[in-house]
Amino acid sequence: MTEVFTGNFTQQEPIPEDAIEAAVAVMRSGRLHRYNTLPDEAGEVALLEQEFAAFTGAKYALAVASGGYAMGCALRAVGVEAGDAVLTNAFTLAPVPGAIAAVGARPVFVGVTEGLVIDLDDLQVKISTSGAKVLMLSHMRGHIADMDALMYICNGAGVIVIEDCAHTMGATWDGVPSGRHGAVGCYSTQTYKHINSGEGGLLITDDADIAARAIMLSGSYMLYGKHTAGPSADVFETVKYDTPNVSGRMDHLRAAILRVQLKNLPNQVEHWNARYRTVENGLRDVAGLTLIQRPQAEGFVGSSIQFLLLDWADAKIEDFIAGCLKRGVELKWFGAPEPVAFTSRYDSWRYADPQPLPDSDRVLNAIIDMRLPLTFSVDDCAQLARIVKDEIELGA
Ligand SMILES: *Cc1c(COP(=O)(O)O)cnc(C)c1O
Repeated sequence: MTEVFTGNFTQQEPIPEDAIEAAVAVMRSGRLHRYNTLPDEAGEVALLEQEFAAFTGAKYALAVASGGYAMGCALRAVGVEAGDAVLTNAFTLAPVPGAIAAVGARPVFVGVTEGLVIDLDDLQVKISTSGAKVLMLSHMRGHIADMDALMYICNGAGVIVIEDCAHTMGATWDGVPSGRHGAVGCYSTQTYKHINSGEGGLLITDDADIAARAIMLSGSYMLYGKHTAGPSADVFETVKYDTPNVSGRMDHLRAAILRVQLKNLPNQVEHWNARYRTVENGLRDVAGLTLIQRPQAEGFVGSSIQFLLLDWADAKIEDFIAGCLKRGVELKWFGAPEPVAFTSRYDSWRYADPQPLPDSDRVLNAIIDMRLPLTFSVDDCAQLARIVKDEIELGA
């Protein structure tokens, strides 16, 4: 019997009813702009920022227009200027080098390990050869590097770390929330991430000066006093005249639906991980397929799963992906020579200087990725694993 999966890999859950009610209340008020509040009214955006700061344990939080915007804002706020080298992962998504390019800086790519995290040996080499003073660290697909070792290297070299937590909202390293090791943590609330407002982003930091600059940059005008999750007014005195307004605010409508989802996030994380573990268990001991070992210290959010087809020929990988697709299983191949849909490789970002990374290419060429939206049941996930296993065994 050939099983065929009929689920939709890009179908998220509906927005919860109480979030819809909160959004309707904002619309009824007519006050959608974050600074359009009544006297004594904090507003949904400031409340979301307070709640996100509490959720992560950060001193300050700022809600913005997108995850990519949060990263660009963080780069500017820590002082990156045009022409500067900025280190980042070779294995990441296009908006990451894009945020670096958007401030006129130059992405310097650091290799990826078979564990799908940044290669710390290569990081040390690239710190010394590039002279970069900032690392935009992408926890791509939710894989978290050894953050203690990484911070030791970066602190020792005077490298500021900004974390791209688009796939690690709700995740932890050794009990510390992802985004709390570096100077700034950046998150996305885009539909395919862990809380969904269509588009949106969040930024956290403990540094009052970075927070003040980020708030000014996000387009606060001189209304920064309305940021109840921001630093006190005196901190703005030193930054308010020389920080440009690079408009990228969040609005009350999106904040209203995010606040409800943030409360539910710990529950959602459990649901994702039950699905992840089901697929992972179904793919154990399949010859030719390498699962990613998750470190003990990593508290991850299994909103997608990756495995490696190491040293498979391109044509064989293509056949495997086509075979799965015929049976309703949509996989992404990060190694595909041509960028497709959301997926692209570091060498397709041709605005960056060419930077060969042969060791990483072996890993990148092998990465297969499957989304696990919460509209899939645990039984669906068991079926997905059966189909993938079948197709691997056919191809091997
Ligand atoms: C989605 C994503 C971003 C950017 O977030 P947007 O909100 O879409 O701008 C950054 N990094 C990674 C790894 C992402 O997946």
